[in-house]
Amino acid sequence: MSTKVVKFGGSSLADANQFKKVAGIIKAEPSRKYVVPSAPGKRFSKDTKVTDMLYACYDAAARGADFTEMFEAIVARYTDIIKDLGLGIEMESRLMKEFSTIRMSFLARAGRDYAASRGEYLNGIILAEYLGFEFVDAADVIFFGEDGKLKLKETCNAVRERLEELGNAVIPGFYGSMPNDTVKTFSRGGSDITGAIVAAAVGADVYENWTDISGYLVCDPRIVPDPEPVKIITYRELRELAYMGAQVFHEDAIFPVRQAGIPINIRNTNRPEDEGTMIVEDAPDDTSPYVITGIAGKRGFVTVTIEKDMMNSELGFGRRILEAFEDNGVSFEHMPSGIDTMSIIVHKDEFEAKEKQILGEIESSCKPDKIEIDRDVALLAVVGRGMKSQRGTAARIFAALAHAKVNVKMIDQGSSELNVIVGIASEDFEASVKAVYDIFVTQRL
Ligand code: ASP
Repeated sequence: MSTKVVKFGGSSLADANQFKKVAGIIKAEPSRKYVVPSAPGKRFSKDTKVTDMLYACYDAAARGADFTEMFEAIVARYTDIIKDLGLGIEMESRLMKEFSTIRMSFLARAGRDYAASRGEYLNGIILAEYLGFEFVDAADVIFFGEDGKLKLKETCNAVRERLEELGNAVIPGFYGSMPNDTVKTFSRGGSDITGAIVAAAVGADVYENWTDISGYLVCDPRIVPDPEPVKIITYRELRELAYMGAQVFHEDAIFPVRQAGIPINIRNTNRPEDEGTMIVEDAPDDTSPYVITGIAGKRGFVTVTIEKDMMNSELGFGRRILEAFEDNGVSFEHMPSGIDTMSIIVHKDEFEAKEKQILGEIESSCKPDKIEIDRDVALLAVVGRGMKSQRGTAARIFAALAHAKVNVKMIDQGSSELNVIVGIASEDFEASVKAVYDIFVTQRL
């Protein structure tokens, strides 16, 4: 039988009703053996996540303020869940014991990480009970070193040993333990990382990541209403899109599964019938229905164009320009060049903080004829593994932009032929995304 590790995000476990959906999903497939829950998230848009309530409550306790009311609000979130799930008196008394330990630990200043981790810990206990699965405390199997970095190998060994003997288990996300046994959390949203570690450790066939969206969308739904979902995406495409601003998986959550060759499936707890997005190492070029996989982009770039007659015959010119940026800690994104011009595209905020120093250095080390600065640049990235084998993809992108009356300032095709990046005016950004989406996805031209 195959093995799936299933991670459920905060919105999937925000209340008892969501718990019931989660249990239905887990029970629907016996291969869903190992479950990684987040803490209860928002039940409605103005609600507060339990993790945020825990941070605020602990901060009050650490200041020596009265935190009773805040604490009671957290207790209420969990007692509501267990009551509505019908978990009964035994669970209630277990929970009360846990809360009295947590309260004492707050008073003893056990730390913010400890406080925040209790959200996942308690959710794990409740979910394990509800499913009839074993509960495994993440602090017993996920280890950080003195330097605060995850000890991946030791952790994988401990997780594997513990879980394999159990068959089914719930292991809370977001935290592990330090060598001195104190609790440490990952960065925010870190339950995704726990899920990836558990999947890698047990050699899962798939790492299912259940959330409140049916996978990734071809582009930002705030720009194009109801964009098509992405069925299959490779890790490299995902990285390109993430780099250009798409909200996707955290790198740390990808590394363990990617290394182990395990695909990630992003699924929607509220629409389990949707297939979601599969994130895989490799996929044939023709598995994307529209040649492109995704469109992303960002505003907030500056182009610095340096002009000098006969620049291309001056050895070391390019290096000296880049050195001026490097010396000031500003990394560059793209560097299109002509015979007598070189343009450096950089993040606006980073550049403007060091502008005087960088331009001074270029003046003295390169003696350019002219420096021009365009402060209003956005970058649009069109990403797709299908581009390599489809002639005319770039032509279609530029035809779409021309049709939308967008002026193209810069073009850069990555040498992997996985993406085309276009520099445009910030004000043209949304029109560009719409135009490219329309030609590839809506019209499938
Ligand atoms: N509960 C934690 C957070 O809100 C971790 C997670 O949900 O992944 O950041």
